[in-house]
Amino acid sequence: MDLTGKNIIGNSLSAEGQSTFKAVNPATGEELEPAFHEATSGEIDRAVRDARTAFGEYRNVSRKEKARFLESIAEEMIALGDNLLRRCTDETGLPETRLTSERGRTINQLKLFAQLVREGSWVDARIDAADPERKPLPKPDVRSMQRPLGPVGIFGSSNFPLAFSVAGGDTVSALAAGCTVVVKAHPAHPGTCELVGGAIRRAMEKCEMPVGIFSLVHGRSTDVGLALVQHPSITAVGFTGSFRGGKALFDVATRRPFPIPFYGEMGSTNPVFILPHMLREKKEAIARDLSVSVTQGVGQFCTNPGLVFLQRSHEGEAFKGELSKFIAEVEPGLMLTREIRNNYQAGIERLEKVKGVSVLSGERKEVTGNRGVASVLQTGVESFLQEKIVEDEVFGPSTVVVSADNKEELLRAASALHGHLTATIHGTEEDLADYADLVAILEQKVGRLIVNGYPTGVEVCHAMVHGGSFPATTDSRTTSVGTAAITRFTRPVCYQNVPAQLLPAELRDGNPLDIWRLVNGERTRS
Ligand code: NAP
Repeated sequence: MDLTGKNIIGNSLSAEGQSTFKAVNPATGEELEPAFHEATSGEIDRAVRDARTAFGEYRNVSRKEKARFLESIAEEMIALGDNLLRRCTDETGLPETRLTSERGRTINQLKLFAQLVREGSWVDARIDAADPERKPLPKPDVRSMQRPLGPVGIFGSSNFPLAFSVAGGDTVSALAAGCTVVVKAHPAHPGTCELVGGAIRRAMEKCEMPVGIFSLVHGRSTDVGLALVQHPSITAVGFTGSFRGGKALFDVATRRPFPIPFYGEMGSTNPVFILPHMLREKKEAIARDLSVSVTQGVGQFCTNPGLVFLQRSHEGEAFKGELSKFIAEVEPGLMLTREIRNNYQAGIERLEKVKGVSVLSGERKEVTGNRGVASVLQTGVESFLQEKIVEDEVFGPSTVVVSADNKEELLRAASALHGHLTATIHGTEEDLADYADLVAILEQKVGRLIVNGYPTGVEVCHAMVHGGSFPATTDSRTTSVGTAAITRFTRPVCYQNVPAQLLPAELRDGNPLDIWRLVNGERTRS
């Protein structure tokens, strides 16, 4: 399957821009063919206008047809076979085994959303019957449900080239909601983006979807992303990536003359708390499993546990020794891009210079190529509270162990945390009873609380919350993983005394779509 390096605008390929770039193989440093054409402002405008026009039709496409379309994207992705995995490995350095499982996750996600759409109750239909006899005023007939917003701009991240990219969680939840999408391809894996974009295009044709519901624009300069977020017909943005990129685009979205929702899913340091009894009982096992969680995928996960809190003790010292030993045994791993590797190195060097921080493991071995050395650093709560930089994400295989003098100091550190995607507590039953206040503190900061586990690995399911307070996300009220992600791209619309023929089928008397609804305050399918 030959790559063209062109933008996908609706059902045509377009290469009007003179500015081009190539993907780079992080393992060899070689440029990969072909050159990709950066989208011009005219092409971005055309993509969004097409998405606007197509939205008029797509929002009313039946739930069965939408579900079939999502399943068809999954089939077309599978049909790309090893070509997709090979190109993706060349562009990211991620091993094929990892990409095979990421592809499986992406496909299952498409199928899960297809089920959600086919079942239909997600629209949260509510009906309050009229009461013309009510005194002193008659009660109107009031009905409401979730409706799609319109064209959505989507940015994927480098570290999940399939699951958080062109056909990833943001795209699938927007399409499932009835929105049309324009995806900004990630410049670190543009060929992978083109292949997956082609799969979506073929699914659109096969399912006879309105032309324009999906476009893919390339760009290595930030101009392409900025133009997309600023386009007046874009009604929401889904972004997965760094804090720097997410915050810059969030500011642009909120400063528009017509501000729009911006769902920025950004970095996180995912604090882990190891409570005293558990530390005594399982320090070695936790040190070993934590070292795996810190270093798997060369630490390039937004759920990487970058902070570990414990109380000073003999066991605490032994735990740090074990953790350092396990981490020191990990071979330096190939990172996604040279820039990510350099940023990682710079982040570790920044931490090393912080007053009160010292290195436990992470000796600068002679490392060849684009590889990151796993590191463990340590500090105390006092330094942690004074030097907020310790809490910032260092994207890569590192973690900082923070020791507290006592429980009060541990809770003070927890209270001072900013938002994160996850927090983890390791504790025995006795610990968990003693530290109930820690749970109460962490619940206010994070999207997911984990007990006696590890934050890496995010289940794609109905109850998942992959979110959290700022700066982990720009909107803590939702999730970017799992079916609840769909409501990021909808808004409730209320219909008062609207005649039946003008109502969406979901709200009509007799429940023609056989979905769960809230009728006069009662959940029912009748
Ligand atoms: P990134 O550099 O921010 O890139 C993400 C996308 O945003 C790219 O398309 C990038 O294009 C664009 N972008 C970045 N800065 C921009 C700006 N100022 N203006 C316009 N566009 C901009 O992030 P990454 O390195 O790919 O991903 C790694 C980060 O993502 C880590 O921090 C990780 O924790 C986070 N992440 C978060 C989640 C989550 O669910 N919370 C999941 C995965 C990854 P350009 O490269 O052209 O700038």
